[in-house]
Amino acid sequence: MNRAVELNAWREAVVGPTDPELTCDECFELIDACVELELAGRAAAAELPLMHAHLRGCSACRDDHDSLLALLRAGPGAVA
Ligand SMILES: [Zn+2]
Repeated sequence: MNRAVELNAWREAVVGPTDPELTCDECFELIDACVELELAGRAAAAELPLMHAHLRGCSACRDDHDSLLALLRAGPGAVA
């Protein structure tokens, strides 16, 4: 568990989740699908609105999403 996840868990404990429909675990499950939609040029925000709402409010999931997107955009040669 990294610092961002810890802070997010703390924030959710204090102020409640900003998006109760989707937890970080559920969001994480959707990151692959979301990134694939984006790579295919589809409107991922429209197809996965709950997830995008979560990404806007959760820096931990957004970082996961951004790094996966960057990795896949870089192509297979960039995967160690
Ligand atoms: Zn999250």
